[in-house]
Amino acid sequence: MSRLGEFEFIKRLLSPLTRGAPGAYNLSDDAATLAPSHGFELVVTKDAVIEGVHFLASDPPDLIARKALRVNLSDLAAKGAKPVGFFMALMIPEQIDDTWLTLFAAGLGQDIDAFGCPLLGGDTTRTPGPLAISITAMGEVKTGHMTRRNGAMAGDALCVSGTIGDGALGLDVVRGAHGHLVSEHKQFLIDRYRLPQPRLELGQAEVGCDSACIDISDGLCADVGHICEQSGVAAIIESSQIPLSRAGGAVLAQAPSALARILTGGDDYELAFSVPPANVAAAIAHGLKVCVRVTPIGRFTSGQGLTVLDGAGHPVKLSALGFQHR
Ligand SMILES: [Mg+2]
Repeated sequence: MSRLGEFEFIKRLLSPLTRGAPGAYNLSDDAATLAPSHGFELVVTKDAVIEGVHFLASDPPDLIARKALRVNLSDLAAKGAKPVGFFMALMIPEQIDDTWLTLFAAGLGQDIDAFGCPLLGGDTTRTPGPLAISITAMGEVKTGHMTRRNGAMAGDALCVSGTIGDGALGLDVVRGAHGHLVSEHKQFLIDRYRLPQPRLELGQAEVGCDSACIDISDGLCADVGHICEQSGVAAIIESSQIPLSRAGGAVLAQAPSALARILTGGDDYELAFSVPPANVAAAIAHGLKVCVRVTPIGRFTSGQGLTVLDGAGHPVKLSALGFQHR
């Protein structure tokens, strides 16, 4: 790897990222020790990102680091967990230099502070393959209170946080699509793709108010479909109610076919959750409190499968949108 060498890299750039977390022992031991707070249990999740699959080699190293951490934090958010810390395995190809590693560690440090989630341990190794970052994030919830995918009931409202579709549209802009957009909108969408906002505060605020939750990584339809499958219910999405950013709205106004991308593209890292009818006002109020818009976009019903309605209330053919349900 770089001139720094593995041990110096860990000592100089990674050990400060523990931010003094007691069980991390400054990355000086073989393992870390970890205990949840009294009355809480650990929520553990893992997501890996690989160059050429999840990001491009030319992407800024600080943003690669932050996105790798944030996609994991998004899973903790969906489970209503408060971050505790994370473990990271870094597979580094030969051509990565010290400048890249320094920027990578700086980006990671920025988000470690922003989300209160220190590095607790991990591994670094050379690889003949592409750059790969595997992160295991840990959070905590009151014992027995992790928000599952399987609690949605017929009659519950389907709510989402923030705006939907920006991530996938941002990737399309990076790839050269939507050339007609004003540069402000292009940049907004690219930023949404490169730097998702894990909805940690919202996820925690909705514990006990929502009945099931998932973060939107595979696409709105696919992820709502996961809740349906696990909960044994069906869902109806009213596409006219889906909250769009100004940039997303501008894309859709020019190209109505972009609705397919908004419904099925991934990388939003917003939350999709079911809310019993009596709790909908509270769910929206929790969003206001943490400055995240919560929008009801449909409902769960008995049966199975997912129906998307257009503005006139007619079902949209999901197969025509390229949506494959497993
Ligand atoms: Mg997820």
